Amino acid sequence: MASYNFLSQVHLILITILIIITLLTPITTNTSPQPWNILSRNDFAGKLTTASSSVESAAIDFGHVTKIFPSAVLNPSSVEDITDLIKLSYDSQSSFPLAARGHGHSHRGQASAKDGVVVNMRSMVNRDRGIKVSRTGLYVDVDAAWLWIEVLNKTLELGLTPVSWTDYLYLTVGGTLSNGGISGQTFRYGPQIANVLEMDVITGKGEIATCSKDINSDLFFAVLGGLGQFGILTRARIKLEVAPKRAKWLRFLYIDFSEFTRDQERLISKTDGVDFLEGSVMVDHGPPDNWRSTYYPPSDHVRIASMVKRHRVIYCLEVVKYYDETSQYTVNEEMEELSESLNYVRGFMYEKDVTYMDFLNRVRTGELNLKSKGQWDVPHPWLNLFVPKSQISKFDDGVFKGIILRNNITTGPVLVYPMNRNKWNDRMSAAIPEEDVFYAVGFLRSAGFDNWEAYDQENMEILKFCEDGNMGVIQYLPYHSSQEGWVRHFGPRWDIFVKRKYKYDPKMILSPGQNIFQ
Ligand code: FAD
Repeated sequence: MASYNFLSQVHLILITILIIITLLTPITTNTSPQPWNILSRNDFAGKLTTASSSVESAAIDFGHVTKIFPSAVLNPSSVEDITDLIKLSYDSQSSFPLAARGHGHSHRGQASAKDGVVVNMRSMVNRDRGIKVSRTGLYVDVDAAWLWIEVLNKTLELGLTPVSWTDYLYLTVGGTLSNGGISGQTFRYGPQIANVLEMDVITGKGEIATCSKDINSDLFFAVLGGLGQFGILTRARIKLEVAPKRAKWLRFLYIDFSEFTRDQERLISKTDGVDFLEGSVMVDHGPPDNWRSTYYPPSDHVRIASMVKRHRVIYCLEVVKYYDETSQYTVNEEMEELSESLNYVRGFMYEKDVTYMDFLNRVRTGELNLKSKGQWDVPHPWLNLFVPKSQISKFDDGVFKGIILRNNITTGPVLVYPMNRNKWNDRMSAAIPEEDVFYAVGFLRSAGFDNWEAYDQENMEILKFCEDGNMGVIQYLPYHSSQEGWVRHFGPRWDIFVKRKYKYDPKMILSPGQNIFQ
C-alpha cells in the first residue's frame, strides 16, 4: 500500500513537471511558418493583402511555367513599410520569406515567395517623386520600382540618357540591377550594373544603408547582380550622358559563322566605332520570328527565307550609330565605310533611320503585336547563356547547327553577341566567364501551355552539351534546381556569395524564388 502511494505521488509529480515544461516551452511547429498569423496583427495600414486576385497574380511571372503562391502581398507606399516587414520577419522566431517583385518579368519564379510575402515594388511608384535628374552631376536618382522606359522619358526631357540598356524597357530598375542588364551597348559601357553610382538598400536584417564603391562598398557590389539575395534596393543613382537624337540602324546577313563572329569581335574592340552591336540566328524551321520579322522590308522576306532554307542556319549582325545635328553629315560616310569593311553576304544589308527613343523602345512594337494576338502571356522557357569566345564556334556547331536544327522546335529570337569582360567588375555578384571576350546567347522562346516542357528539355540538352564539353558556359538570368548547380554557377565566387548572404541576410529571408538557399 505504502509503495503504491509512493508510486502515485511520483507519478503526480512527473505529470506536474511535464505540464509546467509544456507551458513554459514556446510553441513551435514543424509545418512551414504561417506569416499571415504574424502579419495579421500588423496590417500595415491596409497595405497588406491576402486577396486571391493579388496572391494569384504574384504567383505567376512572364515565364508562365511556375505558379508559386505567397501567403500575402504587401503594397508598400514607403521605404518604412518594407523595412517594417523585413524587421517583422527577421525578429520573429519563425521568420517568413519575402521577395521584392519588380515587374514580374522573370521567367522561372525568381520573384516569388512561397508561403511568404511578395513585396509589390510597383506600388511605390509616385508620379510626383522618385526620379530626380542632376544636370550638373550627370546622374539620375531613381526609385528602384520605376521602369526603365519611365526613366528614359524623364531624362530625355532634359536631353540626357543612361548609357547601358536592356533590349526591352518595361523592366524595373531594381529587377535588372539584380541580374545585370545587358544589351548591344554592354560591350562599350558595361552592363547596367556597371553604371550605378550609389544605392539605398534594406538588408535582410531590416537595416537601411546607402552604399557606393566608396561607402559600404561590399554591400554595393553584393547587390549588383546579387539576384535579390542581400537586400531590397529602393533607390539607385544611375550615370547619364547627353542623349543623341537619332540612330542609324544597320543589319547585315551572314552565312559563315566565323566571318560573322570575326566582324563582331573586331567591331567591339574599337573604342570609337558603333554605339550598339548585337546579332541573331535564323534557323530553317518554325514560324517566323514575330519580334523581328518587321525588321526586314516585306519585299525581301521571300529572298531571306530562301537563303535560310538553302543554308539552314544564317546570322544577322545588327549595329547602330547614334547621331545628332553635329554629326548628321558624317554618319552616312562612316556607316558606308563600316559596311565596306564587313564580310556579310553582299546584297543583304538593311538600313533604318529612327529616333533614339524609337530605337531603344524597339521591342515594344513586337510586344503590342503579340499581345493583340494573345501570344504574349504564354509560357516562355527561356535560356540565356554567357559563352566564352574560345568556345563559340563549337557552340555554333553543336547547338545552332546541331541540337536546334535537329529538334526542330525552337521559336522566337535567338540572340548571339559578344561583350568585353573589362567592362564588368569582379567585385559585383554577377557570374561571368573568365575570358576577355564572351558571348551572350539567348533563346527567347514562346511556347504553348501544353508543350513548353519540350523546350525545357531542349534547354537541358544544350546545358548538358556545354557541361560535357567543359566549355565554361555560365547561365545569365540563371535557374538551377539544386544548390550544387549554384555552386558550379558561381565557381570560385561561391564562398564570397555565401559569406555575404550570412552577413546581410542571415535568416535567409530574401528572394527565396531564386532557389539558392533553402
Ligand atoms: P522581377 O522579375 O520582378 O524580379 C527579378 C529578381 O529581382 C527577383 O529575384 C526579385 O526578387 C529581384 N528584385 C526585383 N526588384 C528588386 C529590388 N528592388 N531589390 C532587390 N531585388 C529585387 N534582361 C537583360 O539583361 N537584357 C535584356 O535585353 C532583357 N530583355 C528582356 C525582355 C523581356 C521581354 C523580358 C520579359 C525580360 C528581359 N530581360 C532582359 C530579363 C530581365 O532583365 C529580368 O527578368 C529582370 O529581372 C526583370 O525585371 P523585373 O522588374 O520584372 O524583375
